[in-house]
Order: sequence, then structure tokens, then C-alpha cells
Amino acid sequence: MGIDIDRLENDCKDFINCLTCQICHGILLDTKIAQCDHYFCNRCISKWLEEHGTCPECRKPIMANGFTTCSIFMKRAFESLKIKCQYQDCDMVSSYCDFEERENIHMEIYKLY
Ligand SMILES: [Zn+2]
Ligand SMILES: [Zn+2]
Ligand SMILES: [Zn+2]
Repeated sequence: MGIDIDRLENDCKDFINCLTCQICHGILLDTKIAQCDHYFCNRCISKWLEEHGTCPECRKPIMANGFTTCSIFMKRAFESLKIKCQYQDCDMVSSYCDFEERENIHMEIYKLY
């Protein structure tokens, strides 16, 4: 039997911290997992590998084609995240899956003003 959720003393942000990118320190987006088991956003690690051949975290050599993606379990954890809109004065909350799309749409709308 697992541990009763009510017994957790952590703020959930402690847990969310495990889901951050070692390069940008934001919540992982389009996660890539290196052979050394370090996690990065696809965009962050692609950029990094243009200039470096090693992991930014542990300095082990990494190959651009040696990455795996999240397990279904991790995907589910990400999908449970709710993201506040990046624009001030906007109280839209989106899911991890569609926040970029939704913000892009209303960026188009704001451009009209
Ligand atoms: Zn990143
Ligand atoms: Zn590493
Ligand atoms: Zn908004």
C-alpha cells in the first residue's frame, strides 16, 4: 500500500521542482531525457548541443540522437499542470497541453488593438 496523500508534508512545488529543465530551470516542455538520465526541454538541449557535446548537468558526452521521451506516467503528471496566462491582466488558465496555442491565439487578438 502507498503512503496516504494526507500525510504529505511537502508543498507540491517541491515535487514540481523535479519536473524542471536543468538548463532554463522552467517546467519541462517537450521533454528529452539524456542517456545520463538528465531531463531537458527539447529546445534548450537542442540549442546547447549546437555548441557542446556534453550534458550541461554531469558533463557526460551525449549524442543528439540518444534521447528518449517521457514515460506515460510522466506525461500524465505534466498534463495535470494548469498554466496561468503569461499576460498580465489576463486570468485565463490553460492546460500544459494547449497553453502555448491559446496564448498565441490571443496574442493575435491583442495585436488588433
Ligand atoms: Zn528548458
Ligand atoms: Zn547528465
Ligand atoms: Zn491571456
